[in-house]
This record gives sequence, C-alpha cells and structure tokens, in this order.
Amino acid sequence: MRHARNAAKADDNQGAIVKVGAIFGRWTVLGRGANIGGRRSGWLCRCSCGTERLVMGQSLRNGGSLSCGCLQKEIVANMCRSRTVHGNSKRSGETRIYRIWRHMLERCNNPSCLGFKWWGGKGVRVCAEWLEFSVFLDWANSSGYESNLSIDRINSNGNYEPKNCRWITRSENSRRANEERWGKKRMEVAQ
Ligand SMILES: [Zn+2]
Repeated sequence: MRHARNAAKADDNQGAIVKVGAIFGRWTVLGRGANIGGRRSGWLCRCSCGTERLVMGQSLRNGGSLSCGCLQKEIVANMCRSRTVHGNSKRSGETRIYRIWRHMLERCNNPSCLGFKWWGGKGVRVCAEWLEFSVFLDWANSSGYESNLSIDRINSNGNYEPKNCRWITRSENSRRANEERWGKKRMEVAQ
C-alpha cells in the first residue's frame, strides 16, 4: 500500500537536513522562504502534484507534513473505492475503532461526506502520522480508548492529532456540542 510506504519514509526523515532538492514525502524543497510565525524557518516546497507552498522545516523533518493535502485525499478516495468493491461485508467486518478512524479521515477529506463542511470545509485536518491506521490504533490504546468512548478534539478548531485529542463519553460529547452551539449563538447575538 502506498500510504504505508510513505509513513515509513517519514520516520526515516527524522533528523534529516532540510536543504534545496531534499525530498520529504511528496515535498521537494525549492529554497529557503520567510520564517513562519516569526521564528520557525519556512521552506518553499513543491508537492508532486505541482502545488507550491511554504512549509515549516520542523514539519518536514518530523513527518508532520508529507504533501499539500493531496496524499490524504487519495487515501480517502481509495478507502471509498475499496468499500464499493467489497460492499457491505467489508463494512460490517470493521471494528469500532477502525470505523472511528475511517470517519475521521472522511469528514476531513471527502467533500461528498455528510459532515465535511463542519470538518474538512473548516480546515480541520488529520495529522500525517494518523494516516496509518496502526499508528492511530496505538495512540487510541495508550490514551484510554474504551468501546463506549468517542474521539474529541480539545480545541474544536484544532486538528486531529495526539496533542489535541482525547476520548469522552457520548453524554460529554453532546454536552460539548451544545456548548459549542450556544456559544456560537451568544457570539452571533453580541455581534
Ligand atoms: Zn499535492
């Protein structure tokens, strides 16, 4: 599988030197760019799909950024395709944690997914390491996942990544959703 290879590549890049011509995932470094956020070194990179963007050197080295986003889109497209081919039998054989992982990727990457506008459409991303199901599974098991819990982003504008995620119960989940909704209403009234 292509994404498995790419994730392995990201590990190999640990500690690699960012320089012109170096390759990180799908990125090729074109040259030094402006600093990002004042202090972090930015590098102008070109993705294999042709997109050029300023990327943080740190994100290149630690595998945090492997592409402009086209890699994630492809993985999700492949997931949708394989589901069509294998039909319901594959779907019903999914474990709960696998389904949580798949839905997370879909609502962030697949515009035809029902919730896309609330996640992907708002710029919420899944971190590069979690593109690998086994990495996500390891994190889930080490962060207190239980079969009655769902994944929650601590900062609801933040991404799906280890430091911004935790497991909460369904009732906590709907309480947070309500707070969000009412918080927004209050903001609208105040404006
Ligand atoms: Zn790309």
